[in-house]
Amino acid sequence: MIIQLKKNTNIKVVEQMTSELKAFHILKDGNDLLITGSGLKEIPDSLQDHVHDQWVFNSDMQLSSKAFNSNKAEIDLGTIKIGGKTNNVALIGGPCSVESKDQIRSAALLLNDLKLSVLRGGCYKPRTSPYSFQGMGKEGLLLLAQMREEFGLKIISEVRDATQINDVIDYTDIIQVGAKAMYDQGILRACSKTNKPILIKRGFGTTLQEFVQAAEFVLSGGNENVILCERGIRTFETGTRFTLDLCGVAWLQEKCNLPVILDPSHAMGYSYAIPSLSKACVAMGVDGLLIEMHPDPRNAKSDASQQLTHAEFENLLTVLGPVAKSVGYNLI
Ligand code: PEP
Ligand code: MN
Repeated sequence: MIIQLKKNTNIKVVEQMTSELKAFHILKDGNDLLITGSGLKEIPDSLQDHVHDQWVFNSDMQLSSKAFNSNKAEIDLGTIKIGGKTNNVALIGGPCSVESKDQIRSAALLLNDLKLSVLRGGCYKPRTSPYSFQGMGKEGLLLLAQMREEFGLKIISEVRDATQINDVIDYTDIIQVGAKAMYDQGILRACSKTNKPILIKRGFGTTLQEFVQAAEFVLSGGNENVILCERGIRTFETGTRFTLDLCGVAWLQEKCNLPVILDPSHAMGYSYAIPSLSKACVAMGVDGLLIEMHPDPRNAKSDASQQLTHAEFENLLTVLGPVAKSVGYNLI
């Protein structure tokens, strides 16, 4: 249940109610909100006097639900905005992993030439094997920060575990919580205590309900800047790396008030399909795309088969422009 308290409720009363209801307390648009589990259907009589409004739910998709707030959240990155009423589709590009200054700078140069704004690059890679390249760590974050300085780009990079969360928060503009990390509540809780945007990727065995509940961990801790990212789920199919769940995207667009970004690169696992899948995603009116590209994909240290060449990425922008326009969106 979400309970909106009357304006100017005494802080002592707010604290007492929070404790009595075992609730989360957040301030949203100047209003005190208490959030309890969806099991609570009625407010005790003794507390009724302080209540301005209330929302009862049949699942723990609460702050993120359109039933609570039908306006899609707007993520303000300063130079650009994502979600809300913007009709922007942010084309986020960059390599799977930051590998060297030359490599990440070439991606930054390309985005800059194409007038795109957000550079991705992983520094703490959640690899399936301990013997694979694990990422450049903090050195990589420093290179990304240099790209922000030089080109004014916004930076998104992933956190693998709670030991790097503070560095990732400090050096990036959007914190990516990866498909494997999204169940780590230490990470989610730390992300709830910053105001920076958090992009949560759907785990490949994660139901939509579990996905939005991961977002609720961040929202209920007070950070409203959450973006959801569909990146493919595991099905019986082995011809593609994962299966891009566009039905799930439609479900999120219908029921959830958070911006949705799609990652066809990880879903497909092969670069040949990225242009056609990207067109399908943009045609659905999504808020952004996360696309992996590399100056020399075949020699990439991670996810070699799915990364576009820089020429292919540039071509993708040309192909997507008219599709975005046809559904009333602008590529940014
Ligand atoms: C990535 O973005 O490079 C990545 C590892 O993604 P995911 O967490 O979706 O596998
Ligand atoms: Mn990758």
